[in-house]
Amino acid sequence: MSQSLTIALSKGRILDDTLPLLKAAGIELTEDLEKSRKLIFPTTDPNVRLLIVRATDVPTYVEHGAADVGVAGKDVLMEYGSQGLYEPLDLKIARCKLMTAGPVGVPEPTGRLKVATKFVNVARRYYAEQGRQVDVIKLYGSMELAPLVGLADKIIDVVDTGNTLKANGLEAQELIATISSRLIVNKASMKMKHARIKMLIDQLAEAVERRNA
Ligand code: AMP
Repeated sequence: MSQSLTIALSKGRILDDTLPLLKAAGIELTEDLEKSRKLIFPTTDPNVRLLIVRATDVPTYVEHGAADVGVAGKDVLMEYGSQGLYEPLDLKIARCKLMTAGPVGVPEPTGRLKVATKFVNVARRYYAEQGRQVDVIKLYGSMELAPLVGLADKIIDVVDTGNTLKANGLEAQELIATISSRLIVNKASMKMKHARIKMLIDQLAEAVERRNA
């Protein structure tokens, strides 16, 4: 099968957990990606290459067809809006929870709530559904700081162990969504490279099942 495939991934948790799944699908890196500054990597399959991009950019590369497939967290997809993409497989990796969090023991203000987050679309949707008036403040990182210095009443962030919140005197409050990484596919690629992509989805699905058995 000679259809070429470009896969977009982000470094860190997602990459670490995706590489063994790709290996099970016959796709392995030929060099140590962590030691390289390159952004395009060949694999043991001459027709498959990997692109390394920012986690929040993975859906953009895939939606526009610069990559045929990618791996992105559900949190990133919820924020990006995934109607321009197919999301055929839950890889069940990099699991965590998207939650609201606030200072321990501080009652929620009754008036307009200030919420700091990098997930501004998710935040607006979440509070709109609750009919709650909020000011959403966009941050790019270190969200935990915002309630400590009066920038916001609460934050919305992904939580794994909760240690980061705890270390900053915050506690997780409402669950917005449980998160894991998903395989995403460009809509045109799904049609044009159907056989190759279907094979990848099937092999990954099998590897996910074996991993979670
Ligand atoms: P925690 O284990 O809750 O202290 O998580 C530490 C930090 O890692 C959190 O503030 C998150 O920003 C980040 N994090 C944890 N799990 C994930 C994940 N699955 N995907 C992306 N970021 C995560």
